[in-house]
Amino acid sequence: MRLKDKTVLISAAGQGIGRASAIACAREGAKVFAVDINDETLATLPAEAPGIETRKLDVCDRASIDALVAELPELDGLFNCAGFVHHGTVLDIGEDDWDFSFDLNVRSMYRMTQAFLPGMRLRAKATGSASILNMSSMASSIKGFPVRTLYGATKAAVIGLTKGIAADFVAEGIRCNALCPGTVDTPSLRGRIASAPDPVEAEKNFIARQPMGRLATVDDLTPMVVYLLSDESRFVSGQALLVDGGVTI
Ligand code: NAD
Repeated sequence: MRLKDKTVLISAAGQGIGRASAIACAREGAKVFAVDINDETLATLPAEAPGIETRKLDVCDRASIDALVAELPELDGLFNCAGFVHHGTVLDIGEDDWDFSFDLNVRSMYRMTQAFLPGMRLRAKATGSASILNMSSMASSIKGFPVRTLYGATKAAVIGLTKGIAADFVAEGIRCNALCPGTVDTPSLRGRIASAPDPVEAEKNFIARQPMGRLATVDDLTPMVVYLLSDESRFVSGQALLVDGGVTI
């Protein structure tokens, strides 16, 4: 049990990578608080693994986050997974698009970390370690992709945020890392494919940019999530870890 005695909170846990991560962490012995803005997808989650509790949470709502901090025990692990993919070049980005993407993809992580970190510091003082994991992407400061300018800008900011948090709290045993996946087969990716002018071509193109010749499954990502939230990664902090099927070779 790699996460025995750990309490972790995972956002965007209703579907996709967040959901699979909640299940994987619970199976490794963690007490998991799975949060999402969508309580319908959350409702079926506790049946999939023991030790998962769910809470409806909008990570853009500071008051709801503060109320949750007051309710929950102190955390050993925080996985900020929520994010949105804007589609378009720089010419297509409206002011509202910019604000929405930065609010959900970056500012939410600042809010969540600021709210949960005081409790994590207490846990780290008692146990020697705590871990924050922020969802970035290979589409970030690492690599540019067509029609992903706004998305890449937010995910690059996540890496900067991650490194700053890591630098400030490294001496207290608190680690902070960013996860940078390639293209992962999740409900929102299926939505992006379905809404393309030619969905068959769109799926072919997503696969073609993966040198391993396939999309990632969510379970290609969960071992890295468990590793980074566990003490196995105790000497790893401030890193942007790629799980991208070889895109950036
Ligand atoms: P997804 O996009 O299919 O699901 C996202 C989940 O986030 C949904 O359950 C949704 O209800 C929830 N959510 C949306 N707004 C929220 C809010 N304000 N508060 C709380 N929850 C909210 O899941 P995914 O594709 O696994 O993506 C998860 C993360 O991984 C995102 O940050 C995404 O950018 C990142 N990512 C995804 C891929 C990919 O190819 N799928 C690749 C790299 C990075």
